[in-house]
Amino acid sequence: MLLDKQDKKLEKKIECCPYCHSPKIIKKGRRKKKMEEIQIYFCKFVMRMLLL
Ligand SMILES: [Zn+2]
Repeated sequence: MLLDKQDKKLEKKIECCPYCHSPKIIKKGRRKKKMEEIQIYFCKFVMRMLLL
């Protein structure tokens, strides 16, 4: 029997900033919402948090 982990899609991942499309974004931690936990990113170029 094969044990395939298919629950990896729960976390939303981004590769670049949606504002300036720079790939140089840094993780700023997590924030809990009502039902889910979201990853917070920070873009140095637009100097703002990216809540996704
Ligand atoms: Zn940006």
